[in-house]
Amino acid sequence: MRPAKAVIDLAALRNNFNVAQQAAAPAKAIAVVKANAYGHGAVRIAQALNDTVPAFAVACIEEAIELRENDVTKPILLLEGAFEQTELALCAEHDFWIVVENDPQLEALLNSNLKAPLTVWVGIDSGMHRLGINKDNVSSYINKLEASPNVKGEVVLASHFASADELDNPMTVNQIAHFKASIDGYKRPTSLANSAAVMAWPDSHGDWVRPGYMLYGNSPLDRDHQNDKQLLPVMNFTSAIISIRDIAVGESVGYAESWTATRPSQVATVAIGYGDGYPRHAPSGTPVLVNGVRAKLVGRVSMDMITVDVTDLQDTKIGDEVTLWGPELSVNEVASCAGTIGYELLTRMPLRTPRVYVD
Ligand SMILES: *Cc1c(COP(=O)(O)O)cnc(C)c1O
Repeated sequence: MRPAKAVIDLAALRNNFNVAQQAAAPAKAIAVVKANAYGHGAVRIAQALNDTVPAFAVACIEEAIELRENDVTKPILLLEGAFEQTELALCAEHDFWIVVENDPQLEALLNSNLKAPLTVWVGIDSGMHRLGINKDNVSSYINKLEASPNVKGEVVLASHFASADELDNPMTVNQIAHFKASIDGYKRPTSLANSAAVMAWPDSHGDWVRPGYMLYGNSPLDRDHQNDKQLLPVMNFTSAIISIRDIAVGESVGYAESWTATRPSQVATVAIGYGDGYPRHAPSGTPVLVNGVRAKLVGRVSMDMITVDVTDLQDTKIGDEVTLWGPELSVNEVASCAGTIGYELLTRMPLRTPRVYVD
């Protein structure tokens, strides 16, 4: 069997949820499990949290239905609401909560004849300018929705941050102020915070927070913060060495001969590649761990293999374990070498890579 795998630590996941919940209390934390739980496997992740969380959040109804078909019983919030009116009946049937953030979504809900009323969140644009209604429409949305037989009780007023990961950026404070001004006079439950805001912007917490990335054990923040110390990376992405060879000075390794030995070198070939979710853009010098010791990627990342300079390591042999990221090597560090963020590396992990769950 090919040694490439992503070991998923469900105890670490539960720890991270508790960290988020404690940081946010008395607000309640909704576990965001969109995009296959950021690559960790949405069904197993949601099953592991089902008894602990008040609700889950996903990006679309297809993701929510998959969870419902697999014993996930808690309410599931659709973060972008319904894409089509026909989805609303399914929301009523399955206890999916919806966000309403534009006029077509509002009209579709008001014009439906649902078997049961839905829990509705109103998405307000507080400055990110991607989704959400404007300040001026808040009162009419609240009034129309709460008068509708398709809406259960009071709506939740929600927004989303553009730059909460940047601790020195005044944008988040401005968005909180804009949001407060938008909902002026309305005493409704509120929800603003993603992981970064759960960790670093307590003024944003409101009644519901929506942590995603932090649940998987990595910090979204642009620098160290007291709240990142308790997070435990959930994924340990590993494979093994399948070949080792000596490379003479002037010889190159891999596609396009992108790396050439400048000293007599020993290079190990590892069974992992971009077909497993390792970023093809990772340049020579990107860190990996060989038997827990740092070494450097050299040459081009192939679909199924990478090559690593192990010249300075002792007694490296075929079969030795190689860690691409995990508790001892942050996915954020690897991502920054590859010019992206840990979110992308995790969510792009393909199904080929087996997820192995431990508890
Ligand atoms: C994805 C998402 C979240 C979670 O964001 P993280 O940075 O992963 O915590 C929260 N709210 C909304 C609306 C989202 O789309």
